[in-house]
Amino acid sequence: MVAAPSRGRVYHHLAFRLSLWYGAILVLLAMLCFSIFYAAMISAMRQQSDAYLLGVANHCSELLSQQGLKASLEALDREVEFAGANDVFYRVFDASGHRIASSNLSLWKDVQADVRPAPAPGTATVFENWTGTGHHSLVRVVSLRLGPSATLQLGQSVQEGQRVVHDARRIMGVAMVGMLLLAILTGWIMGRRAMSRINHLTQTVGGISHDNLAQRVEISGRNDEVDQLAQSFNGMLDRIQGLVEGMKQTNDNIAHELRSPITRMRGLAETTLAGGQSIDDYQAMAADTVEECDRLLGIINTMLDIAEAEGRVVAWSVGQVDMAEVAADACELFEPAADLKNITIQVQSNGPCLVRGNIQQLQRALANLLDNAVKYSPAGGHVAVTVSAEGGKVAVRVVNSGPGISAEDMPHIFERFYRGVEGRPMPGTGLGLSLSVAIARAHGGGITVASRPGEETVFVLRLPSSPVDPS
Ligand code: ADP
Repeated sequence: MVAAPSRGRVYHHLAFRLSLWYGAILVLLAMLCFSIFYAAMISAMRQQSDAYLLGVANHCSELLSQQGLKASLEALDREVEFAGANDVFYRVFDASGHRIASSNLSLWKDVQADVRPAPAPGTATVFENWTGTGHHSLVRVVSLRLGPSATLQLGQSVQEGQRVVHDARRIMGVAMVGMLLLAILTGWIMGRRAMSRINHLTQTVGGISHDNLAQRVEISGRNDEVDQLAQSFNGMLDRIQGLVEGMKQTNDNIAHELRSPITRMRGLAETTLAGGQSIDDYQAMAADTVEECDRLLGIINTMLDIAEAEGRVVAWSVGQVDMAEVAADACELFEPAADLKNITIQVQSNGPCLVRGNIQQLQRALANLLDNAVKYSPAGGHVAVTVSAEGGKVAVRVVNSGPGISAEDMPHIFERFYRGVEGRPMPGTGLGLSLSVAIARAHGGGITVASRPGEETVFVLRLPSSPVDPS
């Protein structure tokens, strides 16, 4: 029995593990997206602040050169007033680094703007980040030369923007946890739904036993992977059922076939023992027993040969075989038996017809067909064997006149131990055609039959032809 994962061990459920992976990958991707977004936001805000500071400073520089320091300082005061003294500050230094003007720095004590050293006179434009507390926890500052005798330091609190970014980060963090939970939950539900069909399949397969081989897995009709798996299982079960039934039938047949001769031998022995017990009686019993034993041995050996051909357990020596030659030899072998019934045997081929295989096995396969042809042809009938090459195959046709095969017998004649209406009164075991087919299949070929009652019977043994061996 195949056991489904126990309910307690959630981690062992594929659905749970899949949803964990699904959630983790989703969150990783979301984190990556957010990091890119976060970095882009910070950079955009810094650029915006720098552009603002530089714009104001450049305007003051222009005013200084055109209208003098007073106009420039007035413009700075207006800007601070407009933007808010708590949001923007400025300081102007002379060439010796003394502060000559500033906005209200008492509001900027938390960043200690007034005690920060003046920028070195004549330095190029420098941007800095100052840190403080509260509203001024992050301040963007630019130092710029306004003219030969004045240096401006202009600062702007970017804390507001920073707060927005921090809020966004917090919201994204919470959203990500929510997303992870939702992803795991959705993944779990979807996974369970997909797995429920697999579990059903596992249970069905687990419930199939030797007595219950007819059970099949349900197919939903969606034609998805689970349906394909179910179809493969059902196909496999069909084959197993066929094999088990075949084995069962073969066992029944063997038991039946063995029982009759053994019963006969026992009856013979019993009658002999109960009778006059003369030496002639014992000799007759021994002769009958030998005959029955030979028959039994014949059945057992043929069964073993069929099993060997079907399972290819013994490696046959393989070489190039001319089926035209095999057919000619076989016909010659059966001529005496045919003569006894006044049957004519003809063999015909147009040149060598080569196949690759084991010559003894191929001779046996053809001999069974010829044996049947002679056996079932009425006295005075005819048997014709033709060998020809047809589209990559070699075909050996065995035609015999005669009673033909009835429609009821036709589907069964290749089954083991099956004997048709015509066959039952004749000597035989019902294994000849089974062996021939097994040998033909082991060589990559097969046997077909065409016959109707009262008409000729045509058996065709087809084998893959082999190219001429240069050696
Ligand atoms: P057996 O010949 O020992 O009965 P086979 O397996 O060779 O067993 O053949 C199975 C059955 O097929 C035969 O019993 C017979 O009914 C039928 N059969 C086979 N070959 C021929 C044939 N050439 N003509 C008519 N019937 C045949």
